[in-house]
Amino acid sequence: AFVIGEPCVDVKDMTCIEECPVDCIYEGERMLYIHPTECIDCAACEPVCPVEAIRPAQHVDEEWKPFQESAQQAFTGIGSPGGSTKVDTPIPDTEFVKTLPRKED
Ligand code: SF4
Repeated sequence: AFVIGEPCVDVKDMTCIEECPVDCIYEGERMLYIHPTECIDCAACEPVCPVEAIRPAQHVDEEWKPFQESAQQAFTGIGSPGGSTKVDTPIPDTEFVKTLPRKED
């Protein structure tokens, strides 16, 4: 599955949602989440993200691990929430998040 990481936080461009053929990208409070088992690894979403927030799971490093776990948690117990339903999960408490909104340009 593909994973959305910290560049998406407070951006939520949503272009990826339009590209996904199986509608497995869901909106959270501050970022978007890819459903880890619905994703078919087609890679359609990756190039359209304007902030390069989407990576294949095998390219997730330590920094992105919390986001991968957060996506897993987001869908635990609720299964497939359906296209219009918002997933409700806090974004991971990483160093990056602690420094928000001071983003380097
Ligand atoms: Fe959807 Fe394909 Fe992206 Fe997975 S890789 S989230 S199936 S667009």
